Amino acid sequence: SKREGFATIPDVSWDDIGALQKVREQLQTAIVEPIKQPELYAAVGITAPTGVLLWGPPGCGKTLLAKAVAAESKANFISIKGPELLNKFVGESEAAVRRVFSRARSSVPCVIFIDELDALVPRRDDAGSESSARVVNTFLTELDGLSERQGIWVIAATNRPDIIDDAMLRPGRLETPLFVDLPGPGERVEILRALLRNKPVDNLAEIAELARTEACNGYSGADLGALLRQAGQHAIHRKVARLEYQDFQYACTQVKGSVNKKVMNRF
Ligand code: ATP
Repeated sequence: SKREGFATIPDVSWDDIGALQKVREQLQTAIVEPIKQPELYAAVGITAPTGVLLWGPPGCGKTLLAKAVAAESKANFISIKGPELLNKFVGESEAAVRRVFSRARSSVPCVIFIDELDALVPRRDDAGSESSARVVNTFLTELDGLSERQGIWVIAATNRPDIIDDAMLRPGRLETPLFVDLPGPGERVEILRALLRNKPVDNLAEIAELARTEACNGYSGADLGALLRQAGQHAIHRKVARLEYQDFQYACTQVKGSVNKKVMNRF
């Protein structure tokens, strides 16, 4: 949609996110507190880091975390996907990168979320092409320009940390890499609980425990979302307006984990 790349305030809170406790605390310290209390940093005479990189397998909450950071700090949120900025015409991709940062400057405090960063800034030697090197350089220039306290934070995300240009990770750029892992059994229970918040369920505790079982091994958060949708459809077919244990039992047989070994080997 054409709203892409414009500022909004997302309606995601920390409570909508299950597990990921450590990453949440790190984001709270790295971004939310500096946005809410810039005077603390000014008093001590240090600048807060302006960029973090969320990396990890697909569907494990990177986008959700970025939205919650913006909402919790009451900052504007600009969300783009790396490939959307790429344009085959000479100079257009660089212009698109600059446009994102200039929009952010006109709506501070602002969190810029860049999903699929790897498409935008592949390692310059690998990619080979001159045009992609120019995009990387433009992005670096914009990031470096943020070191002054302007109220703009960048959260980038990738499933392919292996192909990102190393220069991104230097101090003052995306200097804090935060790993967002595939959830383990207990974490799946926490995520399903978060997804079921405000949903009409019978026996929440019992249903959430299903996520701990072997049937859900390898599920990402996104797969747990799919589980909830399958259960919902099952309930609708039964002509009931509440989600019950049997709906989730059935859904477990329908949803397969989407993150395979090959993908996990990247991490
Ligand atoms: P990708 O790398 O594919 O962009 P992602 O890591 O950004 O994926 P999200 O888009 O944040 O993943 O997650 C997809 C959906 O899965 C969310 O909208 C949410 O419904 C669910 N989900 C994922 N992780 C969690 C979580 N930790 N708690 C609650 N819901 C989650």
